[in-house]
Amino acid sequence: MAIDLSKMPMIDDHCHPFMPTREKKTFDNCFTLSLIPPDSYHTRNTLLFKMVRKEMIDLLGLDPAISDDALIQARNERYAASPKAYVDLLLQDAGMESMLVDYGFPVMGSRLAAEELDWFHEVTSAVPTRRIHRVEATFHPMFEQKLPFGELEDMYLAELRDEVENCGTIAYKTVIAYHTGLGIRPIGRAEAAASYERFLSNPSDRAAEKDIRDYLVLQAFELCMDYDIPIQMHSGAGDAPMIDVKLSSPLLMHEILSDPHYRSLKIIFIHTAYPFVEEAGYLVNQYPSVYLDLSSMIPFSSIGVRPKLRQIFEMAPFTKVLYGSDGFTIPEVSWLGARVIRKELGLLLTDLVGERIIDEAYAYDAASLVLSENARGLYIRNWDKYSNRYMSADNLTISN
Ligand SMILES: [Zn+2]
Repeated sequence: MAIDLSKMPMIDDHCHPFMPTREKKTFDNCFTLSLIPPDSYHTRNTLLFKMVRKEMIDLLGLDPAISDDALIQARNERYAASPKAYVDLLLQDAGMESMLVDYGFPVMGSRLAAEELDWFHEVTSAVPTRRIHRVEATFHPMFEQKLPFGELEDMYLAELRDEVENCGTIAYKTVIAYHTGLGIRPIGRAEAAASYERFLSNPSDRAAEKDIRDYLVLQAFELCMDYDIPIQMHSGAGDAPMIDVKLSSPLLMHEILSDPHYRSLKIIFIHTAYPFVEEAGYLVNQYPSVYLDLSSMIPFSSIGVRPKLRQIFEMAPFTKVLYGSDGFTIPEVSWLGARVIRKELGLLLTDLVGERIIDEAYAYDAASLVLSENARGLYIRNWDKYSNRYMSADNLTISN
């Protein structure tokens, strides 16, 4: 008896807009996380690319012996001929019910233009896309303008409030892990204001930068608790060489996690905190309002997905783990992630039924929680406000 998850609805709780205008690398090289220019010779010899190849051949009905070059050409032609039809095919194959989109991508680089977002919303109009707001997208431009502290604070909080009250935002996200790490410490207003002055006069003062970033993220935590929305914390791996991965372990959040003041703050460690997967599963077990999203580990850890899911569920309840892909740049990442989770979670649950730890009925309940129910239960506020239907791109303020 195999647990078959092929028909279950799926919510991708963390992904980014994709668009051909941002597709600067060849298709094979889009399946790497590094910002250092990749080399097809190596990329095509990863097990991840072998999985991409196999699933694309299956989806497009190609000859299994097709060369990598011909496969990529076939994909490019299909996408270019009718982007909407191609994306519809991927969304349908993935069984996608909704995508929860962080519009603050890329971490560095030029802003997404209104036309790019309109294009994205048009091609994904078959499913609701819901809005996640990255807090750094609000305060980075204010750093650049060197706004005085009081003004920075007022404008920052006003924009974060506006996001929830008027723009349909369902969650905030922070990439503080990329900048000064997850070792966030509580800091008072006066100390933060003084550190901000030091940071403006010397942008390479890392201690001062950490203080002001910690302070602003803590302000976002307060709003999360007021509005009862979760915060997605970038944790674990990201784009090399920008991120110092050792600063992105969720274990560094101990001071915040253990503070009773933040007990109602719903924290979602995203990207499975990869490679700190076991650690993340442990924290999810220990702290009632800590959750884990599986993006990036799925699909990027290829054959590692199933053993790592097993590690997570050593301790994490099925009620606190959510499927996500971290799809970006190309539409296939989210699609591949959906195929991978259906297969690998199905096989893991089949094993657990075989080991007589759970029964078949519970296996389907557990899968349903991870694939969609947990997302519906956690992102409550603004759930009925869709980005691609509710608002025009003109209202979206996007930056690094
Ligand atoms: Zn992401």
